Amino acid sequence: MRTFGLKEMKLIIHGGFFSESATNKEVKLAKQAALREIVQSGYQYLQMHSALETVVFTVRLLEDNELFNAGTGSQIQSDGKIRMSAALMDGKSMAFSGVINLEGVQNPIDVAEKLLHLPDRVLSGQGAQDFAYKQGIPYYNPETPQRRSEYEQKLANALRTGTVGCVSLDAQGNLAAATSTGGKGFEIPCRVSDSATVAGNYADTYAGISCTGVGEDIVSGAVAAKIVTRVSDGMSLEAATAKTLAELKPFDGFAGVIGLSAKGEVYHLDTHPYMVWAAYDEGVEVFD
Ligand code: ASP
Repeated sequence: MRTFGLKEMKLIIHGGFFSESATNKEVKLAKQAALREIVQSGYQYLQMHSALETVVFTVRLLEDNELFNAGTGSQIQSDGKIRMSAALMDGKSMAFSGVINLEGVQNPIDVAEKLLHLPDRVLSGQGAQDFAYKQGIPYYNPETPQRRSEYEQKLANALRTGTVGCVSLDAQGNLAAATSTGGKGFEIPCRVSDSATVAGNYADTYAGISCTGVGEDIVSGAVAAKIVTRVSDGMSLEAATAKTLAELKPFDGFAGVIGLSAKGEVYHLDTHPYMVWAAYDEGVEVFD
């Protein structure tokens, strides 16, 4: 639905990096097919919903697809437990909410959504889990046989296999960003991912960004917040993203970014190959 006077809606999503792509074409194709389907569902949803509602809806679909390292199919930390992180940012109100190292729920993004309008908006660990259950979210085990066997084989290099994210621009011109991850895999228990920080997920009235890659590098580069600030100060989304990722070079930072601007710019850039993403831009889907 495009109505005169309203903005042209845009949606961009990512499925993170994936090391399997180098050796496993099937996995790459399966992820691309999943992204194609999900970007279409998300764009459809955006016709009747806000940017904020749409990023939650779309990230939930990504979390429920076990190909991706978020929600069901999240990677396992070195002590055998899955701890997930997710964040949501409403560009209009500038409210940021998130959960860090949350266990035992199906959709971490739903818990972040429940926190968005509360005075305490980022919760971690047991506190996040207790909050989720008090909100009526049921227990759920997000482990899949695939992730368990990867863990058991100690495939520590199964890094960067598919965090998810979504940025949306709605018909009113509002932006929102959401990101969800199972982390790097095999990390020290309770290591904190970038995904539920302003380095990994950020939006204002000018731009919205969701990141994937090595969380430590993304935090060092303050990636999402820096890109959004640069766009707010007048840079194009492309120039702001290029400059911010170039600043990771001195420490060989590993990051990938999807973004939208209020002007309607749609952009993706990564420092290393094999990030999967898709966009709905003027009705055209773009896939890497
Ligand atoms: N950024 C995530 C993390 O470091 C991992 C990823 O994007 O795949 O936790």
